Amino acid sequence: MQMKHKPKLGQNFLVDDSARHAIVDALGDLSKRTVIEIGPGHGAITEILASRCRKLFALELDRGLAAELTFRFRDQAQVQIVEVDVLKADFRALIPAGESADVIGNLPYYITSDILLKLFAAGSAGLIDRAVLMMQREVADRVSAEPGVRDYGLLSATAQMNAQVDHLFTLPPSAFSPPPEVYSTVLRMHFAPRFTELGVDPNGFNNFLKRCFAQKRKTLQNNLRAAGYSAEQLIEAWPGTIPAQSRAESLALELMAELYRSLLDIDLPAENASK
Ligand code: SAM
Repeated sequence: MQMKHKPKLGQNFLVDDSARHAIVDALGDLSKRTVIEIGPGHGAITEILASRCRKLFALELDRGLAAELTFRFRDQAQVQIVEVDVLKADFRALIPAGESADVIGNLPYYITSDILLKLFAAGSAGLIDRAVLMMQREVADRVSAEPGVRDYGLLSATAQMNAQVDHLFTLPPSAFSPPPEVYSTVLRMHFAPRFTELGVDPNGFNNFLKRCFAQKRKTLQNNLRAAGYSAEQLIEAWPGTIPAQSRAESLALELMAELYRSLLDIDLPAENASK
């Protein structure tokens, strides 16, 4: 049976029973945890979570689906369906003061990157500990790629500055109704920001990463030249541990952080500094 759905909202509902159990199982014991579910849809994951966690907030943008779930879970006080755009939701207001939550979701794929950025910020603020997330396979491959492999890029570096990422399993389109055009992969993230350990400030380093990865085909030095550093400045400050012709895609985060620290004292022209 094909369920009624809104393609614009990324509505591909999970119909593989063992997969929905495996997604919830991946968060382990939830009996004392607050859980935030992103995009509960018709409740494939919500139904299993409801009896396992201490408190569940399920954030759904689609008014009809939110109403359906509110009715369905009306007798389970620990489940709260919130009709909201996840990107506008205030996680801090949902989580009891001094505690943290876990996040779960078969994501609406059209906003995967924005959701990830929001989760990284929430992880840095100590609001969330772990997340189990289903996303398009190609995006999951980029999030979890290691330096030097083809898929490694800005998304990988950003994710891995913020979380340890485990690749759990991949599902074919037939696990959903209606089937999407892509395969889907479930990742587990343990939020553990590395900024302090690597001696960098989060805002400055995030901006630096964007500059370093600005154009994939360019070398790191050429991307930094385009960002406003002069050739002389780069030669003078360049760490001996990093080959001059390196591309950002090949550098481990430790080396990227070393490069950032080496260039920190260089003032960029005003028009480049805020980019
Ligand atoms: N969890 C359900 C499942 O696994 O069958 C549904 C997953 S479906 C891929 C994504 C869900 O996210 C849909 O229910 C969709 O309405 C909802 N959604 C889309 N955009 C959203 C947003 N900005 N905020 C919250 N939910 C959203």
